[in-house]
Amino acid sequence: MEYYSTPIAKLIESFSKLPGVGRKTAQRLAFHVISMNIEDVKDLSESIYKAKQSVRYCTKCCNLTDKDVCNICSDNKRNPQTICVVQDPRDVVAMERTREFKGVYHVLHGAISPLEGVGPEQIKIKELLIRVKDNDIEEIILATNPNIEGEATAMYISKILKPIGIKVTRIAHGIPIGGDLEYTDEITLTKALEGRREV
Ligand SMILES: [Zn+2]
Repeated sequence: MEYYSTPIAKLIESFSKLPGVGRKTAQRLAFHVISMNIEDVKDLSESIYKAKQSVRYCTKCCNLTDKDVCNICSDNKRNPQTICVVQDPRDVVAMERTREFKGVYHVLHGAISPLEGVGPEQIKIKELLIRVKDNDIEEIILATNPNIEGEATAMYISKILKPIGIKVTRIAHGIPIGGDLEYTDEITLTKALEGRREV
């Protein structure tokens, strides 16, 4: 027997597909939506749809943006010759919070992980190499996460870039091993950036 009417059951099912949302939370969210006023529900559903529809990859750095070229890449106060390579768009936000970094980014959208079947071709490494080839680059800062996948990715990129004479640095590990850049506080991240070393 169904406990809920079909639309509610469907809503619960949709919420439970979200990361970190278990069955109980999904139920709570679904009932909350039903109790909200109709205008707010409309706003919520439209923002979800519009965000999904308008957000794409920046043609330069692969960060998420609603324009062809993102705000950071099109900011002429930033130095396009220093590229900080990160795994995830959320890492860009974390780095930006430090207000220390004045270069630009490259977002890989993942890390090399043989265990999960993610090879270099599945993430945005090719795009980075094209970018490096076509532009005069001073330094590539590898700011992938300090865990096995992040280290493997940093090693892979550095092995390709070093022989072509590009300065490649790795952020220092004030960041705990196994940690995520996203959850690192600004001070630790600033220190990590300052203490980067050539690889
Ligand atoms: Zn960009």
